[in-house]
Amino acid sequence: MTFKDKLALVTGAGSGLGRAIAEALAARGAVVGAIDVDEAAARDTAQLIVERGERASAYRADMSKSSEVDAAVSAAVREHGALEIMVNNAGVLDGYFSVDEMDESLWRRVIDIDLTGVFLGSKRALAEMLPRGRGRIVNMASVAGLNGTGGGAAYIAAKHGVVGLTRQMAVAYASRGITVNCVCPGAIPTGLRQHSQQILGPGVPDMSGRGVAVNDEQVRSLIPAGKRGTVEDVASAVCYLASDEAGYVTGHSLVVDGGWRAR
Ligand code: NAD
Repeated sequence: MTFKDKLALVTGAGSGLGRAIAEALAARGAVVGAIDVDEAAARDTAQLIVERGERASAYRADMSKSSEVDAAVSAAVREHGALEIMVNNAGVLDGYFSVDEMDESLWRRVIDIDLTGVFLGSKRALAEMLPRGRGRIVNMASVAGLNGTGGGAAYIAAKHGVVGLTRQMAVAYASRGITVNCVCPGAIPTGLRQHSQQILGPGVPDMSGRGVAVNDEQVRSLIPAGKRGTVEDVASAVCYLASDEAGYVTGHSLVVDGGWRAR
């Protein structure tokens, strides 16, 4: 798989899966635009890549705000040329609240970031890709986009929404040279719980011990592989879906979960 000189934008690229995806695409020749609401984190990712002699720039955007999404994508295209790959990865957890515990404002904020953010990122990317008749969109869903566990009500609803949005876009754009797929990771150690708490503020509980795969014993009983995955496991799946080799793959939800969902 090579992405030589292709512009690939990765949202939520300041940490975790997004950073690993940015690094993996850059290592295979892409020019990466690292987008994050945390500008310093996006810069760190770009710098890591540039220090290796590969190419990247950083952009700040809150993916739930269309004006900020537009500004970041426009700047990247101005600097680096045509947009070939859009990875809508930015997301937050929701405190694992069920409906009766979740207030409306938290519900709306999580849906805004996790689902509307994918819509806005895709819409802005499509404005670049449709006139050229080519492009790859890869969205970050989750096992929580397929199962009723792995998050609270808003997170699970948003991730199911990402799976559905991916399918709709795949059908709509298959004849116009654009593939749209999503990845559904299982349990991968990242800063997701901590960052989500910072981003959502005091309305969410300490998430460090919440969820279904928080200790080794739970992981062993839940996941047939008996261990958590790595950010690289997910990044290589994204690279495949973003590659020329995946030209006939569209509307797919690629599960990367050590067998969790196959159970
Ligand atoms: P992370 O917290 O390490 O990285 C997420 C990044 O997204 C952070 O840098 C954060 O600043 C950024 N971000 C959050 N809201 C944003 C916004 N509105 N606009 C722009 N950037 C924003 O977490 P991660 O685990 O790497 O999560 C990445 C994606 O993977 C998320 O969509 C998450 O739901 C999904 N996911 C993670 C796991 C897991 O086990 N880690 C499993 C399934 C799915």
